[in-house]
Amino acid sequence: MEYKCPLEPKPSWCCEQCKTINENDPQKIRLYCFEETLTAFKNDYQLLSLAECKLIADDICAFYGVPLPEMKDGRGLKVARGGFNPDMILRIKLPRQYRFRLAVLHEAAHCIFQYLTRNEVGKHQPHDSTYTRYLLDIYSSQLNIPINHIEHVAKQFSLDF
Ligand SMILES: [Zn+2]
Ligand SMILES: [Zn+2]
Repeated sequence: MEYKCPLEPKPSWCCEQCKTINENDPQKIRLYCFEETLTAFKNDYQLLSLAECKLIADDICAFYGVPLPEMKDGRGLKVARGGFNPDMILRIKLPRQYRFRLAVLHEAAHCIFQYLTRNEVGKHQPHDSTYTRYLLDIYSSQLNIPINHIEHVAKQFSLDF
């Protein structure tokens, strides 16, 4: 059954950035564009405190049985980060502009993916199909969007999951 998306998805073909493919992480830009669509759909731009972000990350990590990541303010970073640090501690770093629900879930999903698949740091594509599978399930449950809708929109962005 074709799911009728209430939001007109962006492709064809999305934007200038979508045309640059990073060989080490081919899905990354398309995934980011997909997330922009979801954020717009949920109208979920509200910036949260770091403590509120930690609650969101802890909640989903606990659900997957993953150790609760350290939450850092990401000062000096241009982008958010999540996953194992070289010291093998799970850590999320969130510069102020990334302190909204969807970005927190994205970084928490990196922690969950790395912990559960035991991918060594730097030896996998950070946004590969396995990661994306976790991410879609997490978005569906945490943002209250039916999984078939999320998957339908993800396919519009040619994401493997
Ligand atoms: Zn795009
Ligand atoms: Zn990421």
